Amino acid sequence: MNNPAIGVVGCAGRMGTMIAGAILARDDCRLAGATERPGAEVVGKDLGSLLGGETLGVAVGDDPAELFAAADVVVDFTAPAASRTHAALAAEKGCALLVGTTGLQPDDLALIAQAAERTAILQAANTSLGVNLLLALIEQAAAKLPESYDIEVLEMHHRHKVDAPSGTALALGEAAARGRGIALQEHADWARHGQTGARRMGDIGFAVLRGGDVAGDHSVIFAAEGERLELGHRASSRAVFVEGAVTAALWLAGKPAGLYSMRDVLDL
Ligand code: NAD
Repeated sequence: MNNPAIGVVGCAGRMGTMIAGAILARDDCRLAGATERPGAEVVGKDLGSLLGGETLGVAVGDDPAELFAAADVVVDFTAPAASRTHAALAAEKGCALLVGTTGLQPDDLALIAQAAERTAILQAANTSLGVNLLLALIEQAAAKLPESYDIEVLEMHHRHKVDAPSGTALALGEAAARGRGIALQEHADWARHGQTGARRMGDIGFAVLRGGDVAGDHSVIFAAEGERLELGHRASSRAVFVEGAVTAALWLAGKPAGLYSMRDVLDL
């Protein structure tokens, strides 16, 4: 689709602000509009002032129905409850949707999959090229290495992050489980404290660090007797997620109904 109109929900957020700015800076797409949560201080204000630049003549709205009716694609980096509402609206208005929100629970994912029967939806816990390549490498390593290689997933994020482990850490755990041919839910060891007993063979462990302004560090460790393989990714700026999100939104514009992932966009 040529020059698609892209809407941004949660436009005052850390990701939303950068995504709106990135869309405005490009000449192969247009900004269809931007919304924030009803009652948010920025509602009614000019989007330009939010981006720290000149006035754009685009007021921040609080009616997502209006935005979904006007846009070809909407980009959503908000919170799980908001993403549920947005998925239902995308289906109702026939607008494509990119869900980058993390912390989604199984019933949120089921609702998104249901909405994707009526419109194109891409759900991605991480929109960077590097992390999506890492997911493929982890699946491959887990398929090749025997169960005697203990798998541990470690992540660190900035102090404001509200969900744990990160959506990317969960996706890495899923990739490792897929490679090993097991179900993550049956083998995940989410946290350790006190008299935990010895590590259970075949488990996939998770460890979470929070602090400062870390954009996102992830490592997966395969630890055996005598050697340790570590594969990891460090995001030094949120710009990498923003770039991936806008690329994915452009790719999604005009696609038929269905549930897509970054693998489809990046051809991995
Ligand atoms: P943030 O808290 O800075 O921004 C979220 C914004 O959404 C806020 O401005 C909030 O007011 C707004 N919002 C909440 N409910 C809304 C509603 N109903 N309608 C409109 N706006 C609403 O958080 P952030 O750091 O920008 O992250 C947002 C989400 O994106 C988190 O789940 C985070 O984990 C995820 N994330 C994903 C990726 C990725 O690559 N997929 C990268 C970074 C962050």
